[in-house]
Amino acid sequence: MSKLNFEQEIQTFVSRTRNSQVMQQEAVKWLPGGNSREGQHFDPNPIFVDYGEGHYVYDVDGNRYLDFVMNATSLILGHANPSVVSALTTQASKGTSFAGPTESQSRLAKILCERVPSLDSVRFVNSGSEATMHALRAARAFTGKHKIAKMEGGYHGSHEYTSISFRIPGGRFESDAPVTVADYNGQPQSILEDVIVLPVNDIEQCQKILRENADDLACVIFEPIASVLGYVPCSTEFLNEMRQITDELGILLIYDEVQTLRVAPGGAQQLLGVVPDLTAMGKIVGGGMPAGAFGGRQDIMDLFDPRDGGAVLLHAGTFNSNPMTMVAGEVTLKTLTPNMYDRLDKLGEMTRTKLRAVFDELEVPAQITGIASFFGIHFNMEKITDNRVAARDDTELKRALTLGLLNDGIMLGGTVCTLTTESEIDKLVNGVREVMYRVRGYRK
Ligand code: PMP
Repeated sequence: MSKLNFEQEIQTFVSRTRNSQVMQQEAVKWLPGGNSREGQHFDPNPIFVDYGEGHYVYDVDGNRYLDFVMNATSLILGHANPSVVSALTTQASKGTSFAGPTESQSRLAKILCERVPSLDSVRFVNSGSEATMHALRAARAFTGKHKIAKMEGGYHGSHEYTSISFRIPGGRFESDAPVTVADYNGQPQSILEDVIVLPVNDIEQCQKILRENADDLACVIFEPIASVLGYVPCSTEFLNEMRQITDELGILLIYDEVQTLRVAPGGAQQLLGVVPDLTAMGKIVGGGMPAGAFGGRQDIMDLFDPRDGGAVLLHAGTFNSNPMTMVAGEVTLKTLTPNMYDRLDKLGEMTRTKLRAVFDELEVPAQITGIASFFGIHFNMEKITDNRVAARDDTELKRALTLGLLNDGIMLGGTVCTLTTESEIDKLVNGVREVMYRVRGYRK
């Protein structure tokens, strides 16, 4: 492929985002890199958001962006949904958080337990990271075993035990065996020893490694639909076999459904038909407010029950189940009726089909992955089965596409929302065509 016309896109971007640059200059004085979340960074400069409305985000330079990011897929109803805003306004006037329980948490818990097959009961936290962290602790306390297993390349939030082998520096794959990589220099050796890394979708290797470590392994955690791979569902065989082997070996199966809960009322476990022991959730559960939840089998969740002399497993958190998050979550999940999920599925499918068609038309070797309301774009024609194949994507072309689309007022993410119609999908697809013409330097 010829060299990309990148410089022009960068210049356009810089000239459109002057106020953002001023704000970034101020931000870096007080925050490392100017932010509190690595994903907020963007080269040459982040876009500072002014406000969001429906399917759109407006920046501090007055630019409008059609948003397919939706804060990492969490805003399934779009920005500032009127019902969510109204619930939040009412709740804010009654107080935002209390030490005591409110009825709102029982209402949201009931909805989740009635919809998600694995949930007998549930506990609320404030992020997906906390949800996976507590699910792991529950598995350890329940089994009395200390090791955990996760997939190479799998992401489950920002705590020690899941931060192993998420980022794999290039060229480290010397063999087919999964690698155990520390997230940072100084991460305790004990953590590296207590996390067993597995190759996703390779059931034979997984079975072998799980058998070898069964005596120490409390649980396996993974996403049944790998968001990190562009929303690629694990094969049915892999899911069934993982369910079987974990049952056989007394290892708990934990699904990270922080992102994938949005594929069906009962999440990926309902859609794909394999039910874990514990589930970690987040994002849509809080309707755009900080949220996380974890839950599962009653005998495991009973560890947290403080009645009759105190809980086996202490679970505290000043803002856990705060009513702002609970009411926003409740309104959101109630809006997500079975018909709404059908609609999201159709829109997702339409997006994937139209994206495939435009790359075919342009003769750009690209692969579109995804399921339900998710889509992923890979500049890579190898079948995406694991992180090693995905690592061979042409990231330069993806970056050019992302930047070019921003210049055309589109934020490229991997999700549609309930406000998406064919018109928004066409805007995305036409934007992709235009940007590809520009950055690849020719018109077909
Ligand atoms: N698990 C998965 C699969 C995620 O995508 C994320 C967040 N992107 C998390 C866990 C962590 O959630 P949070 O950012 O709310 O801590």
